[in-house]
Amino acid sequence: MTAKTSVSPFHHGERQVQEKLGVRDKMENFGQRVIRDHMPQQHREFYQQLPFILAGFIDDQGWPWASFLYGDRGFIQSQNDKSLQLDANIVPGDPLHDSLTSERHLGLLGIDLPSRRRNRLSAAITDVKNDILHLDVIQSFGNCPQYIQSRQMIPHQYKKAPEKIEITTFNQEMQKLISKSDTFFVASHYQSNDAQKNTPASMGADVSHRGGKPGFVRVDSNTTLTIPDYLGNFHFNTLGNFLVNPKAGLIFIDFDKGHILSLTGRVEIIWESDELEYFDGAERLWQFHLEKGVYLKYVLPFKWQFEGYSATTEVTGSWAQSDINKQIEQHKNSWQKCVVTKIVQESVLVKSFYLQPQSGGISRFKAGQFLTVKANINGKQQIRTYTLSSSPNDEFYRISVKHESQGVFSSFLHQQIQIGDVLEFKFPAGEFYIEPNSKLPAVLMAAGIGITPMVSMARHILQDAVRTRAMRQTIMLCATHNLEQRSFFNELNALAAQSDGHLRIIWVVSNPEADAIEGEDYHVKGRISGELLQAILPIDDYEFYLCGPSGFMQSMYDISIALGVSDKRIMAEAFGPASLQRQLPEYVDKIIAAPAAEEAIIEFSNSQFEQAWSKEDGTLLEFAEAHGLSPEYGCRSGQCGSCKVNMIEGDVHYSQTPTCSYDNNQVVLCCAMPAKSSQDNEVKLRLEL
Ligand SMILES: Cc1cc2nc3c(=O)[nH]c(=O)nc-3n(C[C@H](O)[C@H](O)[C@H](O)COP(=O)(O)OP(=O)(O)OC[C@H]3O[C@@H](n4cnc5c(N)ncnc54)[C@H](O)[C@@H]3O)c2cc1C
Repeated sequence: MTAKTSVSPFHHGERQVQEKLGVRDKMENFGQRVIRDHMPQQHREFYQQLPFILAGFIDDQGWPWASFLYGDRGFIQSQNDKSLQLDANIVPGDPLHDSLTSERHLGLLGIDLPSRRRNRLSAAITDVKNDILHLDVIQSFGNCPQYIQSRQMIPHQYKKAPEKIEITTFNQEMQKLISKSDTFFVASHYQSNDAQKNTPASMGADVSHRGGKPGFVRVDSNTTLTIPDYLGNFHFNTLGNFLVNPKAGLIFIDFDKGHILSLTGRVEIIWESDELEYFDGAERLWQFHLEKGVYLKYVLPFKWQFEGYSATTEVTGSWAQSDINKQIEQHKNSWQKCVVTKIVQESVLVKSFYLQPQSGGISRFKAGQFLTVKANINGKQQIRTYTLSSSPNDEFYRISVKHESQGVFSSFLHQQIQIGDVLEFKFPAGEFYIEPNSKLPAVLMAAGIGITPMVSMARHILQDAVRTRAMRQTIMLCATHNLEQRSFFNELNALAAQSDGHLRIIWVVSNPEADAIEGEDYHVKGRISGELLQAILPIDDYEFYLCGPSGFMQSMYDISIALGVSDKRIMAEAFGPASLQRQLPEYVDKIIAAPAAEEAIIEFSNSQFEQAWSKEDGTLLEFAEAHGLSPEYGCRSGQCGSCKVNMIEGDVHYSQTPTCSYDNNQVVLCCAMPAKSSQDNEVKLRLEL
């Protein structure tokens, strides 16, 4: 039965955080339904089979603490849906021993680590008789299993006698325990000062679970910790309490040694910080400043066996990874080395190369972006760009390369590169990428090797959905010539199978083999047509992503426009010179207006010579090469930015708008020609080359 109350189940601190983060109305409706003043039957059964429970409370000086209470299964009993009795062992030396008085409030968190189930309640102690705690339930609600690492508890008697160490600073042993922890519990408290005094929402202590990868809690000094706040249940019980009473009690458990580190101190919420940019999954940060604590060694008669991280933990970061992300950002434009760790034949023409950067980490790229890769082939430096087919959440880079007959780089990769070889690369870049959690459904259309960005996008959308618990609706159409050339068939179908209907893959094969089975090996024979799109896309607003040969892209673009899709909703990437003719002037406007000059004098300042250029000489890249210079280049289509150089004097015309980023004083050689002077003067360009 749901509590029928017009009083909010949230106190003003919680409401303030919900308001600030835009979830206030949603949470009020939700809270009214799921936060009860009694325990549902299944919560009562859950508590009664637990071997331990966490309790949060406030000591007589107003400091919150979290405590670990345990006993044989059944040590918690519930006579009715409003009461619990705990015949619990309290760890020797735990501050709770001094705070067991009637009317004190406890926050309780029942958590079953193997199944990741947990339920919370707040209660008042009504009596303590013969060491049995009698509790009256005030609020009760269930919590989702995210960020809980699975562990099995095994009884264990440690040979050493329990020790209690009172602390006001962390020593090295404690810092090590905190730094390797993937789990801790946090107690907080709300003391009512407002008009809602004595309503359920206004009372009591709370205790809550925090999980992450080892290293998610940073030890800043011997009294300060910094902790990321991940997406949660949007109740904001802990942050709401912090807003009103900025104090916390933390408890870290040494799951291998049976130690408990119990701390209390002040907290500070950090709503905005540059550090958030580098820490995967962190929505906010908070800092804990130690007031005092107890380190209780060899006090638990258990050991725990680790079984696995929760899927939500897997997509979060750590402070070490955040430092790597920061360093990567700083070295974004320099060449890095990576080792080829795995090679997979994806189809008759395509091989995937798994790459591990020697510097360690994978940068936080966007699904759809490309790597610029460099290798020395037959004594000459060659640079090419390859879209990543891995997702930003994967622990490797993966490029998937089509073997072009007589193609220099693709032949080198296919025929010479072996596991263990080293390639050079620049960090991912590119403007063709997807936001995994946009509300608009996405339609990904790929032909041939144009499938690579779409594989990355599909992987990322699915992995990000684990974190956000909402998956972007995605339809992917993969066009291929025949089954032999069909890449990523099993991988994409497996992703679709895991997506709970949110990702749909349609295989379109123009020339299937005689023994290919429709409905099994492919869905549609022929090409992607307007009729096909109309048949599979319910009427809605979509974002379209196109990648493939230029004819395919133009045709998909024209079909989409004819179906009423707005130009700005169509994103396209070409693996060569962009040739898509867009229909709307807003894109035409982007092309820099100055027309090309007929003739110009180009000075190459580093090489110290001048040459006369005329329009037939082509782009500045072609002109420089024709005069014996070897500027770096990659895509030769304004996408990778490898050929940009500083322009000391003059102005350029872009025959094709570069999509890579470049500064005002830079020129992207592969798309540029000297611009006509407005006064019809002699045109002069001075390039740092
Ligand atoms: C943004 C971007 C992303 C990309 N992503 C991918 C990707 O994910 N996967 C992928 O496979 N490619 C991708 N490419 C293309 C890739 O960068 C290379 O262009 C491609 O691999 C061909 O390079 P190559 O050195 O093998 O061919 P090149 O030596 O550069 O030759 C280019 C073409 O000319 C032909 N050719 C060369 N010499 C001769 C000759 N003597 N006679 C006849 N024909 C000849 C080759 O067959 C080839 O088709 C991407 C390109 C861009 C711009």
